[in-house]
Amino acid sequence: MADFDSGVTMLKPAANNPATRPSLTETLIASVNAKTAEANALLKDTSLEFGNNAVTFANSFGAEDMVLTDIIIKNKLAIEIFSLDTGRLPPETYDLMSKTEKHYNTKLNVYFPQADKIGFYVKTNGINAFYERIDLRKSCCHIRKVEPLQRALKGKKAWITGMRAAQATTRTSLPVREFDESNQLEKFNPLSNWSEQEVWAYIRLHEVPYNKLHDQFYPSIGCAPCTRAVAMGEDIRAGRWWWEDPNNKECGLHVKK
Ligand code: SF4
Repeated sequence: MADFDSGVTMLKPAANNPATRPSLTETLIASVNAKTAEANALLKDTSLEFGNNAVTFANSFGAEDMVLTDIIIKNKLAIEIFSLDTGRLPPETYDLMSKTEKHYNTKLNVYFPQADKIGFYVKTNGINAFYERIDLRKSCCHIRKVEPLQRALKGKKAWITGMRAAQATTRTSLPVREFDESNQLEKFNPLSNWSEQEVWAYIRLHEVPYNKLHDQFYPSIGCAPCTRAVAMGEDIRAGRWWWEDPNNKECGLHVKK
């Protein structure tokens, strides 16, 4: 399928996604404040339960992850933060990475794929082979995301994600705490019961830096070639691997054994 058109370049939506600017009503603010207190308490308890250097947070720079980054850094929680640079991220994500370092006066802890594995994959299959077959998509995700994640989680007892139950059909029963069989450690999803509106209310209330692609109807952002904008009312994760079955598309970071 050498002439596959990703569709990414065809969509140039205006930067006016209303979902990123919810009306900050008293009810919404109260709800966000209550859930923020809950998330903060959960993160604090987690760091106490597992001890220093044992809990790590995977920041992929989505809106939810920026909320958790803000909570962890501002409350000086004993939780490490790391990120994965797949080498195929959109420029807006790199802009946000740089902005995050400046905003929080911190240095990012970034894990990269192994160059020899990428080199072999590209030479064997082609630079954009992930469009051609699901096994090639999954092996690209494995090299660029899963293996670096495994390195980042090595020696940890628990990890934190910014996943929400309402994000996808694959996440509808997402618990706040679960055992991650694949990586053999505890996994916490403190924003599991947050709505998209609450996430954006937090970002606006606390002036948290965020990825400008969200304003252009990209509710979920991954690698540039595998992410597109969504139409109003479309599923939040419809823009990720849009050519695949929506009931079965995760990158391998959050699969259950
Ligand atoms: S999201 Fe796409 S480019 Fe990124 S690792 Fe997966 S298949 Fe490769």
